[in-house]
Amino acid sequence: MSDNKKQELTEEDYLKRHLGDVDSNKGSNSNVFASDIPFTQEAPQQSLKVDELQFFNCDVRELPCGRFYPQGTLFQVRPAKVKEIQAYSMVDDNNFYDIVEKMNYMLQECVRIKYPDGKIGSFLEVKDQDRLYLIFLIRELTFQQGNSLTVNTKCTCGLDNTLELNRKNFSFHVINDKLEQYFNSSSKSYSFETTNGNKFDVTPPNIGLQKAFTDYIIKENNDKVSPNLSFLKIIPFMLGGRSSITYDGIKAKLTEFEQIDDQSFQFLNAAVGMMTFGIKELKKSCQCGEEVHAEMQFPNGASSIFVIHDAFEAYIKK
Ligand SMILES: [Zn+2]
Repeated sequence: MSDNKKQELTEEDYLKRHLGDVDSNKGSNSNVFASDIPFTQEAPQQSLKVDELQFFNCDVRELPCGRFYPQGTLFQVRPAKVKEIQAYSMVDDNNFYDIVEKMNYMLQECVRIKYPDGKIGSFLEVKDQDRLYLIFLIRELTFQQGNSLTVNTKCTCGLDNTLELNRKNFSFHVINDKLEQYFNSSSKSYSFETTNGNKFDVTPPNIGLQKAFTDYIIKENNDKVSPNLSFLKIIPFMLGGRSSITYDGIKAKLTEFEQIDDQSFQFLNAAVGMMTFGIKELKKSCQCGEEVHAEMQFPNGASSIFVIHDAFEAYIKK
């Protein structure tokens, strides 16, 4: 949402903005969604626990931030169990901090990352701007019998269209062309060199960093310290390769950031300003052939992603 808001920042505001960023991710490959068969059942190996059989493989290239993971990374995703849906069902739809927390918990339980070298990573290494996409992937795996979330929108031809909130209809933010030539495929980040001789590596932060910065914001809030918003906007993008940072670590970064030269600050501010990735909106083709678009939104609130809105009517024996 408002990246240039310069006033006091509550953790909710920060996360609201942050969630806005998630809503509006980048789109390296928005047409990948043409096919809705992005995951295949994992080939059973010897001595797998029952639990493991429930994981589906998802090609990392399907994700809005797919290009920022090592080549050959695999996401393993399983449907939510009732325990996780119970936890998620308590989400406060009006509290963005809580929404992000509940979504993170869902990812913690249902997602793991398998790197090409065989190492297993956790949800903390998921790019922050992939959160929502994965939540909807878990949702699709969980409600394979249906239970669709829809938004209605009118086409220019006058026809009413119903857009289902699923990955097939998600359109991603497109990466700014200006960035492309600076993408470093070995570090999976943008490597910039400025006219004043500075070098910067910039890459979207992961959930581990998002959590660390959120904790930091909450602490600063409690201590009545007004946070440096441009620091919070820029620095998470400059911590590639890390999925955590301590409070003192953030403080040290802040000191560095406040001493940065003017030109470097202006450059980084502009560069990070171009890094909006993830789901931008919903789209599909109308019968008339035109594309219809709708804003990404949660009908009936974020809770409705896993809570069946009309469960009483649907499940009462009549
Ligand atoms: Zn139409």
